[in-house]
Amino acid sequence: MFSVSQIPLEQVILKNGLLSQEAGALVTFEGFVRCHNEGKEVVTLEYDVFDSLAIKEGNCVLTEAKEKFSILDAKCFHRKGKLAIGEMAVWVGVSAGHRDEAFKACKYIIDEIKLRLPIWKKEYYANGDSGWIGCGKTAGEPNKEADKIDATALSQNEIEFYSRQINLPQVGADGQKKLKSAKVLAVGAGGLGSPALTYLAASGVGTLGICEFDTLEASNLHRQPIYAHADIGISKAHLAAKELKTLNPFIHLRIHNEKLTAANVRNIVQEYDILLDCTDNFPVKFLLSDAAVLLKIPLVQASVYQFEGQLKVYQPKEGASCLRCLWPKIPEAGCTGNCAMAGVLGVVPGVFGILQAAEAVKMILGLPTLSSNEILIFDFLSYRMKTLKQTADPACPVCGTDPTIIDFRPENYIEADTAALDIKEFSPGELTAYEIIDVREESERRAKPVNFDSCISIATSVFEKTSHPFTKDKKYLLFCEKGIRSGRLVRDLRSRGILQSFSILNGADGLKACLKKNAFTKVKVLA
Ligand SMILES: [Zn+2]
Repeated sequence: MFSVSQIPLEQVILKNGLLSQEAGALVTFEGFVRCHNEGKEVVTLEYDVFDSLAIKEGNCVLTEAKEKFSILDAKCFHRKGKLAIGEMAVWVGVSAGHRDEAFKACKYIIDEIKLRLPIWKKEYYANGDSGWIGCGKTAGEPNKEADKIDATALSQNEIEFYSRQINLPQVGADGQKKLKSAKVLAVGAGGLGSPALTYLAASGVGTLGICEFDTLEASNLHRQPIYAHADIGISKAHLAAKELKTLNPFIHLRIHNEKLTAANVRNIVQEYDILLDCTDNFPVKFLLSDAAVLLKIPLVQASVYQFEGQLKVYQPKEGASCLRCLWPKIPEAGCTGNCAMAGVLGVVPGVFGILQAAEAVKMILGLPTLSSNEILIFDFLSYRMKTLKQTADPACPVCGTDPTIIDFRPENYIEADTAALDIKEFSPGELTAYEIIDVREESERRAKPVNFDSCISIATSVFEKTSHPFTKDKKYLLFCEKGIRSGRLVRDLRSRGILQSFSILNGADGLKACLKKNAFTKVKVLA
């Protein structure tokens, strides 16, 4: 329960009812009004709260904490109105069976509340001055009113922050103001997005959008050092916003905690001056490229693969080539590897994310960037860099002379893969018509066991050497972790004439969904 209180919190929280016989730990956080801030003597303070929204968002934060951590209950009280020095401004309490989870949840709650809730603080100073302090809506969902930036002036603190950059004759105070008024969106806050965002924030890009719907996983950290191991399971968009705001308090951050789709792309990207493609999946890359062409917004794209990276800049002007000039259709899933399957050296996306930030910053400052008809390729093993020429294709389906893609239709962003079957709704009878083959490696099988005794296991690494007798008159269902490797093996089988072979959509999770629906674990396979 999240509450806003006009009376002192000590009286409110006396009977908070958090303790129970099950709770082995109660962790509390208490925030007080202090007598100074940034060298100024504070005499009193006022909190202005947008009550209905704060209560709604505050309760969302508490619900998220309960979902993410093994805790029993959580409560938070926040003061509003005028407070004297030493008065309690905020109280968070978390009860849990174990102290670790209680500590983590308590930290999560206070951090998210500071970041997301529409609560503003006004300090009154001993010298008679007063000022609103950015303690409330430091980041959040897009809010045009709150996002208005005065880029006509730089404060003394900003001049000090950017002084080494302002010293450059190509930047100066005017360049810094251009950066301050710019709005850049990074789609993806992972291996490419987190370094790109870090340097864009540090450079003083005034409004940064973060479009990311994933939560932090342990396997992200080797290439996404903006995050911390202790934050696994938490929304990356919110974590990134918090870090960036800590780095540079003079910028605005907008969180788009959702997947970019044909349905929402226009609304999300049209508010920005420059887009950064920091994703690793084809449908979103094509969607962003089409958005850049159709809505005439510059785009900086990067892709990484093992020890190599590519960089491309698209600026909407005559003769510029887009992604579909090179690939008119989205390639088949699995025709190239992504980070999860093929692996990537952590520093490769780090460097390419920074290159994306560099191109965006130069573009804002009017400095030379990579041309829209070039692709830069850099190999970290040989340290060879090459720039390939790419010309605009007049027959391109989106930027050509007679385009067929003129709006965002979902069917234009589906990977070309007809061999994937959605088996969620399969009955036991339908399922038993197939021979089911698990092509995951042993470590993956151990990590995510599928309790289904009738699976045959042939790891991808031994698949091609296997003597398993595939025959043309049988039907096969292959699955891996996500359905990408199994898709590739199915295409291989089909090229050998085994046409009744299919890959399970969404891999092991797809099969599990079917097994759960049918509530069985054993099936006799027609051998
Ligand atoms: Zn094109």
